[in-house]
Amino acid sequence: MSERLPLRLTTEPGADFGSALPAPHSALIDSFGRVHNNLRVSVTDRCNLRCTYCMPEDVVFRDRSELLTFEEIAEFTRVAAGLGIDKVRLTGGEPLMRKDLHKLVRQLVAVPGIKDVGLTTNGVLLAEQAEALFAAGLRRLNVSLDTLDPGRFRELTRRDGLDRVLAGLAAAKRAGFAPVKVNAVVIRGVNDADVVPLARYCREHGFELRFIEYMPIGAEAWEREKVVFAREILDLLGREVSPLAPAPDNDPRAPALDYDYADGGGRVGMIASVSRPFCASCNRLRLTAEGKVRNCLFALDEADVKPLLRRPDPDRPAVAEVIHRTVWAKWEGHEINTARFVKPDRTMHAIGG
Ligand code: SAM
Repeated sequence: MSERLPLRLTTEPGADFGSALPAPHSALIDSFGRVHNNLRVSVTDRCNLRCTYCMPEDVVFRDRSELLTFEEIAEFTRVAAGLGIDKVRLTGGEPLMRKDLHKLVRQLVAVPGIKDVGLTTNGVLLAEQAEALFAAGLRRLNVSLDTLDPGRFRELTRRDGLDRVLAGLAAAKRAGFAPVKVNAVVIRGVNDADVVPLARYCREHGFELRFIEYMPIGAEAWEREKVVFAREILDLLGREVSPLAPAPDNDPRAPALDYDYADGGGRVGMIASVSRPFCASCNRLRLTAEGKVRNCLFALDEADVKPLLRRPDPDRPAVAEVIHRTVWAKWEGHEINTARFVKPDRTMHAIGG
């Protein structure tokens, strides 16, 4: 593994990339040969929940004037699409807190080369927005939900709102999203008791449940012992719900490993970021709400494209150069499992989950 030193990135056009950097018009490939086609865009750092594993309770949000406008996000996406990005996922913070998000979806769906646009939301505002989002062209929808118990929901999110999330899920189904995916983080000693009820609920309603291993990216102290590993969850579901078998159509590049219930009750995904990192096939690039380009959730450095996008005539070659450079600088892996791991300064909500 390469040593995990912060890499300095520069937005200076014409900076020395080193001879190995591919020509700016070529595909987005990093120094380990990973081709990038997937962009995650945070549209805001604001959130209407305060999940303990994601962000602090007392948080100062960015002034709205600091955030990229929808036009700037679309412009960035156009440049990235020209370099091979074909999938975009909107996230945050809570993306549905950004006014008229469906208008951004419409703009992104229209970008030549973009094949699909997804959204990850906590679902609190989904009931009001599901129809408009679907009509705008959104098709991939993930709703985060870690418990069906109102008390535990309050404990985990430091807010009320479980009823609204459940109403949001129902509205998404009515609006036509299929499948609706439900993302759950399980923390030992906190919500392990929710694994089986969540699985039963998702089977009953036709939602596709995906478990994400708890990662060291929140405000609270992370302990490895608190991670409920994918293997444990699979064993539990196999015992308590139905036996599971690996899905025949698993995409080796996708972060989730899918499993089908043997009784035909649907599918469960495991995002084993800690016990089985998928860095070797990572194809993701990230844009933060205020215009920083990152090559990894755990990156210690990032490059600012906002000034380039805010020039009167957006400097597209310079934006493309920053994207290439950021991808090229990607580390081999996130290093969570090594002594070299360094937690980024920003917590998940400020990067974009
Ligand atoms: N607010 C939206 C939501 O709740 O889906 C989007 C942003 S949120 C940061 C995206 C995802 O990151 C959620 O599914 C959340 O559970 C997950 N997440 C946040 N902190 C995490 C952590 N420490 N480990 C694993 N997943 C985490």
